[in-house]
Amino acid sequence: MKHDFKTLRLDRITRNFGGPASASGVAPLPALGGLTMNIARGEFIALLGPSGCGKSTALNCLSGLLALSSGAIYLDELRIDTLPPEQRGFGMVFQNYALFPHMTVAKNVGFGLLMRGVASSEIETRVKRALDLVQLAMHANKLPGQLSGGQQQRVAIARAIVIEPPLILMDEPLSNLDAKLRLEMRSEIRRIHGELGRTTIYVTHDQDEALSLADRIVVMKDGLVQQVGTPQEVYGQPANLSVARFMGYRNELLLDVAEKNGDGIHLTGPGINLRGIPKAAIGARAAVSIRPEEFSICAPEEQPENSITARVEAVEYYGRESLFMLRTQDSTRLFVRTEGTAKPGETMTVSVPHDRVLAYPSEQVA
Ligand code: ATP
Repeated sequence: MKHDFKTLRLDRITRNFGGPASASGVAPLPALGGLTMNIARGEFIALLGPSGCGKSTALNCLSGLLALSSGAIYLDELRIDTLPPEQRGFGMVFQNYALFPHMTVAKNVGFGLLMRGVASSEIETRVKRALDLVQLAMHANKLPGQLSGGQQQRVAIARAIVIEPPLILMDEPLSNLDAKLRLEMRSEIRRIHGELGRTTIYVTHDQDEALSLADRIVVMKDGLVQQVGTPQEVYGQPANLSVARFMGYRNELLLDVAEKNGDGIHLTGPGINLRGIPKAAIGARAAVSIRPEEFSICAPEEQPENSITARVEAVEYYGRESLFMLRTQDSTRLFVRTEGTAKPGETMTVSVPHDRVLAYPSEQVA
């Protein structure tokens, strides 16, 4: 398989699983409804979205475990979606490690090379190099059952990279690990990718993992791509309300559009006076998304231009910051995470920078 490709190209790939039509005769939605993108050699791509959005289906179509319903996959000019998995030769890392329990770590890592008929002296050298890279050389003769979950996942990563695949596919590789190991393994994966520079496609439902690991993130929902962008783009400029929700924009306010000028927008509601950035063509009402962390508390005598005045319902103390749960005058829940103090029952005025107020068409509210 080509290792020196420039571009992995997904051309409108889809996958249906059939299944019964609904009572109204409507066919079920495809698991993957058409994914088109170009991935450059060496890129780290995260497929991000909630359970059932089609991430694993996309990955399995790439590996060849699943056939496409339509579309095509190319490594440069070479069409590969018609090839069986073993001819594609991609490295795979799964959530459950999928190691052979009766084989030593070294045998597990070398298995793919053995199957490819590589000479035993070369297998030994390459297994050692792969185990050094994942820092497991001292465990080469142990069985998987004698290792921690994090170590087993590193064996799985060594096994995937030892065959020097053109593409490494990882399906939620960290979700069986506890929180601390997950963080450690995240930086391990980043380090290994930095050292090897292998093109990697990584499936996760964890925003932090996607943001911290990926060069680009593909946000998916219901089998469809919602946004492709750098972590900064997806975090700061969600393309629509559903991406915003998924990326932690917990506050959603339905407000009147008082004025639109240039690229700004003036939004009002009871006790609410905000300037914001419209993210699409907006009518008389807008759905406004703001992260809890973007607010700060104003002194009562201040009348900032960009502010919301609301009643404090509850406060959760987190040390340096607190999470204030507010209720606006039209009864919308508002989460504010910031420094400061307030008691339930008090009135609070909070302000937010206008470039952190994202306004979407109100029709996007489900
Ligand atoms: P998760 O994070 O839970 O694994 P996902 O985003 O990876 O979710 P997929 O596993 O790709 O989602 O599933 C996408 C859709 O396709 C779901 O609605 C799922 O029920 C359906 N699906 C997946 N595999 C099959 C299958 N073998 N047969 C029928 N339907 C399937």
